[in-house]
Amino acid sequence: MRGVPLPYLRCLGAGRVSALAPLVVAGVVVAAAPPAQAWEYDLLIRGGRVIDPANGRDGILDVAVSHGRIAKVAVDIDPARARAVVDAAGLVVAPGFVDIHTHVFFGTTDGTYLHNSYQTVAPDSFAPRSCTTTVVDAGSSGWRDVELFKAQTIAHSKTRVLAFLNIVGGGMRGGQAEQDLGDMDAARTAAAARAHRDAVVGVKVAHHAGPAWDPVLRAVEAARASGGRVMVDLGRHVPELSLRDLLLTHLRPGDIFTHVYADIPGRTPVVDAGGRVRPYVLEAARRGVVFDLGHGGGSFVFDQAVPALAQGLLPSSISTDMHLQSLNGAMGDMVNVVSKMLNLGMSLPDLIRRSTADPAAILGRPELGTLGEGAAADIAVLRLETGRYGYVDTSGARIDGERRLECAMTLRDGRVLWDRDGLTARRYDALRTPRPRRRPAARRRRRGPAGAGASRRARCPRPSAGWPRTARPHRGARPSRGPASTRGAHRR
Ligand SMILES: [Zn+2]
Repeated sequence: MRGVPLPYLRCLGAGRVSALAPLVVAGVVVAAAPPAQAWEYDLLIRGGRVIDPANGRDGILDVAVSHGRIAKVAVDIDPARARAVVDAAGLVVAPGFVDIHTHVFFGTTDGTYLHNSYQTVAPDSFAPRSCTTTVVDAGSSGWRDVELFKAQTIAHSKTRVLAFLNIVGGGMRGGQAEQDLGDMDAARTAAAARAHRDAVVGVKVAHHAGPAWDPVLRAVEAARASGGRVMVDLGRHVPELSLRDLLLTHLRPGDIFTHVYADIPGRTPVVDAGGRVRPYVLEAARRGVVFDLGHGGGSFVFDQAVPALAQGLLPSSISTDMHLQSLNGAMGDMVNVVSKMLNLGMSLPDLIRRSTADPAAILGRPELGTLGEGAAADIAVLRLETGRYGYVDTSGARIDGERRLECAMTLRDGRVLWDRDGLTARRYDALRTPRPRRRPAARRRRRGPAGAGASRRARCPRPSAGWPRTARPHRGARPSRGPASTRGAHRR
């Protein structure tokens, strides 16, 4: 964790830091005295409003982290037992978001839409700063290149990355490649899903414009054979395929219909021209079909969302459909999508449930999206701001709202990946001392670089305006710049 370098704390002496009193710096309490064996927790997040739907929690609680796991969630955990303490008063503490619809197969192949291309986004470039700790790639790769996807994206990401395999073996290359029924092999897709069970959670079918159900049927077959879910992006079919047949005949309970509030050519919208949610859509929801939000660059319009919410068709999961276009469009990021739904009338606890525990359950990964003791310490610290904000849909329409969530801090497996407000950082002016007068150059030469004084200076570097940038407690032990691990700077 970023913070006060401990060698420097030792050098401050009793006049600056009591051996018994903790040092309080910018919301971080670094307890200075107890021996190493006294630290029971690596980090304690104190006094936030903990919203943890998986465990039925909503109240002012402390969250203790140890060895990358949630060690304890309770009222008034003793801060003296923690190596570092974050003051989360006034903030919301929740599980890290689980975004089940993203496109993160980034690469440099030109003209391949969301497959190993410039149009996708590296997970760590957007997820930590939007309090997201798990992203699921929605079919950017298929069975032919899932290994490349793992080597290229998953292996290089601090964000946890899972994947739906595209039923098209070549993945989401766009154009005719996604229309080729000859490359939709259920058996090979299922075999790849089984072989990469650590990362693959299901099968995606998308962008097929033909008149047949074959892509959906093969995706369901592959998912059934590999024990995963199907995610369907229906649209642009000529002639249109029956939404009723998809929802009530082809999809199983637990399968996912994404872009629920879209109104796009070639797909029947869930809300009819009279503003009424189609009854068979509500019936499918009752049967357990998952209605994923999947905002994207063209798949979320208030004309659908507003009447659907009013009539009880809530999104089963909040997701972004992140790619380069949606990132820089009306979608923005996960906290913006959650904020948009908040301003459309959904409650914050409900939204957190549908962004954490519920998507984790949909994926068959209930160990995610929870602050349960023993779970991975994937934690979102959010600030709920009030003011005047605007939210836009993909048709260019806007609503005005008064609430906005901001992501203050994100931890995955106990490591700080994002810390916008420096909740875990030392405060600059708290450690700063007046800059010492420079000795004349001749005197510096006479004393020379060696001797006990130089040795002491090396052990106890003087804090200065440039402390993190220039001073090093020990050679090769540079204090961390920017958010870092809770297991780093304060190790004793
Ligand atoms: Zn998508």
